[in-house]
Amino acid sequence: MDFSYTDEQELLIDSIKEFCKRNLTENKIEEMYKNQGMTDELIKAYLDAGFGLMGIPEDKGGIPCDRVTLGILTEEFSHYAGCVTPFLNNTLAMRDILDFGSDEQIKQCMDVYMKTGKPIFSLGFSEPGAGSDNASMSSVTVKQEDGSYLLNGQKTWVTQGEVFPYVLVVAKDEDPSSKNREMSMWMIPKNSKGLTTSPLHKIGQQIMPFCEMYFDNVTLTEDMRVGEKGKGFYNLMKNFEMERCLIVAQCLGCAQAAMDDAGAYVTERSTFGQTISHYELIQEKLTDMEIGLENTRNLLYKTLWMMDNNQSVRIESALLKRYGAQSCEKVASEALQIYGGLGYTTETRLGRIWKDVRGHQIAGGTDEIMVYIAGRQLAKKYARN
Ligand SMILES: Cc1cc2nc3c(=O)[nH]c(=O)nc-3n(C[C@H](O)[C@H](O)[C@H](O)COP(=O)(O)OP(=O)(O)OC[C@H]3O[C@@H](n4cnc5c(N)ncnc54)[C@H](O)[C@@H]3O)c2cc1C
Repeated sequence: MDFSYTDEQELLIDSIKEFCKRNLTENKIEEMYKNQGMTDELIKAYLDAGFGLMGIPEDKGGIPCDRVTLGILTEEFSHYAGCVTPFLNNTLAMRDILDFGSDEQIKQCMDVYMKTGKPIFSLGFSEPGAGSDNASMSSVTVKQEDGSYLLNGQKTWVTQGEVFPYVLVVAKDEDPSSKNREMSMWMIPKNSKGLTTSPLHKIGQQIMPFCEMYFDNVTLTEDMRVGEKGKGFYNLMKNFEMERCLIVAQCLGCAQAAMDDAGAYVTERSTFGQTISHYELIQEKLTDMEIGLENTRNLLYKTLWMMDNNQSVRIESALLKRYGAQSCEKVASEALQIYGGLGYTTETRLGRIWKDVRGHQIAGGTDEIMVYIAGRQLAKKYARN
């Protein structure tokens, strides 16, 4: 076992640190949360620095790297920025299209990305009546006589749905009923006739707002289908494994930023004639926070390493999502507690970090659903005989 970073990974971390110091100052971040999005200038700088191309094969115009390195990229950006960073969504979007898309679709995505720097598509999976229970979705495509399809339905909580040029949608084939498991994935231009959106207001993560999306007889053509017909649900489940890893990497970076602040504050704040670092109750908090961070980090990189080595991570990605999101929320919350009254103001970034991380106990599958996924598998794994 080797827990050290490679020379390239060390260099990557240094350049992320430098990039964040230059481009993601606290003032700029606050401004972007207020304006609900990143500036075009920042998006362009991220692309120009090459971060947005990481994980994409060279022959597709990218900078190849393994999943472990994509985890480091995500963790360290969130760490040095101290917030969730929407341009990392491209890492996830490109992963989907590389895994399931055709060569033409990969090229289409790369062309748009290189031109705009914006992640190519948002992910439209959840519906008002089907979040955890995706299989109960009722958005449906029906084939027309001319070979095209009409899509009808509604998606919700679509992160960056109003910003990115396309949306990747999973919808039922022909029959919207819950017994139908035949679904397909479609990459749909946001400006399609019949596609409308309306904003939803998050309590955190305002730098990447989400929205409702309505599909009213939206025409789809065969070339917009991503992956095999009828395999959309399977692809969706595969997509979640990487998404859960990157969500936890974001949580971990944010929680580490909170730890950096709180860890420094304990030797600066005095009560009863000594710094609060002297109190065992504060030391216990720091200890448990560090354990949460270290365990999350180990589980995150082990899971990514397993994916890099073509091993199934069905159980591990669920264990990681549940443990990592919960532990990071606890770290952020305890950091805020260490700051006392100041922690509950907007004078520090801790309130923002805590709200950002809290959302990730729901996004990408709730804490409870991770038990639903892992629990049944664990019962099978440990069954005698
Ligand atoms: C910040 C954020 C970003 C998001 N971004 C996107 C996005 O980009 N695209 C997208 O498609 N969706 C997105 N979502 C939606 C997210 O995936 C869903 O909210 C999530 O899957 C939960 O679905 P739900 O809200 O319908 O809750 P429900 O499924 O209605 O669950 C309600 C409660 O019941 C619990 N529950 C449900 N079933 C079970 C069970 N079998 N056992 C135990 N408990 C259960 C849940 O854990 C939850 O506590 C986002 C959500 C958030 C918060």
